[in-house]
Amino acid sequence: MITLVIHGGAGNITPAMMNREQEIEYDNGLKNALDAGYSILKNGGSSLDAIVAAITVLEDNPIFNAGRGSVFTKKGLHEMDAAVMNGKTLEAGAVSGVRNIKNPIKLAKEVMLHSGHVFLSGSGASEFALSRGIEQATDDYFFNKQRYEQWVKIRDSDFTQLDHEGDNLKGAVAPNPDHKFGTVGAVACDAEGNLAAGTSTGGMTNKRFGRIGDSPVIGAGTYANNASCAISCTGHGEYFLRAAVAHDVSCLMEYKGLSLQEACNVVIKDKLVKMGGEGGLIGVDAQGNHTFCFNSAGMYRAMRNSEGREEIAYYGI
Ligand code: ASP
Repeated sequence: MITLVIHGGAGNITPAMMNREQEIEYDNGLKNALDAGYSILKNGGSSLDAIVAAITVLEDNPIFNAGRGSVFTKKGLHEMDAAVMNGKTLEAGAVSGVRNIKNPIKLAKEVMLHSGHVFLSGSGASEFALSRGIEQATDDYFFNKQRYEQWVKIRDSDFTQLDHEGDNLKGAVAPNPDHKFGTVGAVACDAEGNLAAGTSTGGMTNKRFGRIGDSPVIGAGTYANNASCAISCTGHGEYFLRAAVAHDVSCLMEYKGLSLQEACNVVIKDKLVKMGGEGGLIGVDAQGNHTFCFNSAGMYRAMRNSEGREEIAYYGI
């Protein structure tokens, strides 16, 4: 079964925080990304190409906290993180703290294929991007008024914030009026049973200069292995890093024989909850079975598979 699963961030996403207009905006944003990725899978393309295509569409849409819609750092800049992993070869590519890159997910793939390394950061990643002809964008491309206002409210504090987190500041109290953005990710199983995962983010609002979240860290926010699953996470990155969430799910499947759903439940609904970590993940196994698993109020999410199933949802069940 071929399957594509995507997310647009987890957090305090409830019906009370969304109006119909916003729901339509998200429906369209997620559907466009599904269309871009699924058409590749349907035409016999690879899971890797499909997840990069889906994430590129999400990065180009300012309602999501990745690429164009990335949140502001403590210095009022945009520093983006992204990673991809190929479950067939266990090759991976990642970038962190990159600025002025239109599609960080494409740069992560380029790192995987052409750098001889797995993880490049900051100016080294930028230099590599230039040498590979990766598309750049000026600061104003990334400027978003709502996100700017969201940052202005907390920039003089030491607080950070998941940008769709309502009033749930990390160590803080001020409300976030703008709860409608999120980190993006995609996982896929192609016609050959090959898995791939990718995640892209602007991180957390007001994050410190140089802060790296879980999204680009292989095994924390992103992981793929044909022997188990492909995973892309979203949530409070510091906890996902410490719990090595994506790799933990994979290990429970590979070494303990748990199903995808069972493994995700252990990590997201038990281990992470006990640590105080909020968020969720999307996953797919080599048979094309998928899961959405989160311990937050909601998660922007969608899937399509070759059995004709399609789902777009935001809230908890
Ligand atoms: N996990 C991301 C980070 O901590 C944020 C998110 O998922 O929204 O950078």
